[in-house]
Amino acid sequence: TPVIGVLALQGDVLEHVAALAAAGADARPVRRPAELDAVDGLVIPGGESTTISKLVDIFELREPIDKRIAGGMPVYGSCAGMIMLAAEVLDGRPDQRGFQGIEMTVRRNAFGRQVDSFEAPVQIAGVDGEPFHAVFIRAPWVERVGAGVEVLGRVTGGSGSRPGVRGAEPASSPGPTADRVVAVRQGNLLATSFHPELTGDHRLHRYFVELVRAA
Ligand code: GLN
Repeated sequence: TPVIGVLALQGDVLEHVAALAAAGADARPVRRPAELDAVDGLVIPGGESTTISKLVDIFELREPIDKRIAGGMPVYGSCAGMIMLAAEVLDGRPDQRGFQGIEMTVRRNAFGRQVDSFEAPVQIAGVDGEPFHAVFIRAPWVERVGAGVEVLGRVTGGSGSRPGVRGAEPASSPGPTADRVVAVRQGNLLATSFHPELTGDHRLHRYFVELVRAA
């Protein structure tokens, strides 16, 4: 049974622990470097990426997590966790820092404050069956992916108007109703803008458990 940790500094930790257990993992919270050493994979939950970034330093987990990622440990980041895995963050706080494992640019709070939360169907490549009822809560979207990144899912709509964001998008940028990338994978790193741990649909956690088993 793969042992999978959930980074337990802030955010919806227990929901991920429950979803991972339902998906067949030995799931446990991770707050200390010694706890990190004992896991085969890690989930970075949704919450607030600026806060998680600060707590990662306070709990002296930055270097250990960087090292494990460099060593190939599978990591799944949801929402704030996706932001923590991005090489580049737009609309982030100047002092926030992630693990930069996935060659992608994400825009924080991208879907705009009028629609801080919405649900929409998202089909995930590699996950059979009906689309996910994807829940987006002040979610990021992925604006650019590097050559090594596989796009696993997109969402259409969610208004996409970004009333809180000043400044024009580039002329080449898709309009408000365009598809947005909301799920990606690069090697052993997986990230989604949405929260599968909130809906009782454990297919994505099973996907991650299998990824950890294979690693
Ligand atoms: N807006 C949050 C952030 O910037 C993410 C929200 C979430 O994780 N549900 O980190």
